[in-house]
Amino acid sequence: MSALAVQYDAINLGQGFPDTPGPREVVDAAVAAMHRGQNQYPPAVGVPALREAICAHQQRFYGIELDPASQVVVCAGASEALSSALVALVGAGDEVIALEPFYDLYQAASVLVGASLVPVRISAPDFRLDPALLRAAVTGRTKVILLNSPHNPTGAVLSRSELEAVAAVAIEHDLIVLTDEVYEHLLFDDEVHVPISTLPGMAERTVTVSSAGKTLSVTGWKIGWATGPAELIEKVLGVKQWFSFASGTPLQHAVAIGLELPDDRFATMGRELQAKRDLLTDGLRELGMEVYHSKATYFVTADIAPLGETDSLEFCRSLPARVGVAAVPNQVFHASPEGVETQVRFACCKRDEVLADALLRLRKL
Ligand code: PMP
Ligand code: GLN
Repeated sequence: MSALAVQYDAINLGQGFPDTPGPREVVDAAVAAMHRGQNQYPPAVGVPALREAICAHQQRFYGIELDPASQVVVCAGASEALSSALVALVGAGDEVIALEPFYDLYQAASVLVGASLVPVRISAPDFRLDPALLRAAVTGRTKVILLNSPHNPTGAVLSRSELEAVAAVAIEHDLIVLTDEVYEHLLFDDEVHVPISTLPGMAERTVTVSSAGKTLSVTGWKIGWATGPAELIEKVLGVKQWFSFASGTPLQHAVAIGLELPDDRFATMGRELQAKRDLLTDGLRELGMEVYHSKATYFVTADIAPLGETDSLEFCRSLPARVGVAAVPNQVFHASPEGVETQVRFACCKRDEVLADALLRLRKL
């Protein structure tokens, strides 16, 4: 969809990335690190300053205690952290349970290791997790429950009671939880992010993944990390070192500075995005779409059925040429498109004038 956006000079509300430059002091820190000559390979596990900053961040926001020497590994984005964790922890014939819709990488990486992804659907309008569906998905082959909260593409945020239900299943069946929390700070209204590793009995079986891309609005830097028990993190590192080995030395130094920004800077991110969520939600509703309430992330999911549309894939393929806007069909985040044939994901993480222009263009539909 991004390629189509470029081809037709369309406004890209498909791929989730902000169209602003990122925090000034973080960008300056990257430039300064380059000028200081911090341009050679970092340690595979990540530069010490960043590993310390990641642990301090987990302590500050969630009270999680981690050892920077053994419980964190820096990766080329959350993507490499997730792929490495799946290769490290899952084998051929195993099953990975994931909330459906799921971020597309989960299925691709599972298939890569010969495992299969078992979807547990969360459905419109409120995208809540039904614990009975989760229980029914567990088999003797289940190895990992792969969570994503705040959730792409729906903007759902798993509540404490939903997380407790997941924890109960994980403990009962001795499963590892791999949790993708890249949108941990991009929360709207009064939503609270609860890391599942903070629930009783979960720290020892949870690998948590996050990314500076989302937290610091620098998606192109591809600096992410995994944290968790030393024996699991060692396994993730053991795979990651054969993927990229290491990446982004000056960026790692700058992200360390960024993670130390004061609390209010993190809160501001959610507040600013919330106003954009509202702008896009209201605008799409005015156009006649049914728009589901997004509680977090860069995204809003809309249903285009009220416009007389029947297939979001066709709709999104033709949208850049028709009106000069790109969006993503939610079908691509599902194992089966049944029931979501007309859902479309729009990114709200753009400047207000860009969102307004996109809405104006969509009026031509
Ligand atoms: N997980 C989710 C849910 C995402 O939306 C994304 C992409 N934004 C990633 C992982 C990948 O993050 P990164 O760009 O840090 O690799
Ligand atoms: N995570 C972003 C999204 O969901 C983009 C990442 C990608 O394009 N691979 O839109």
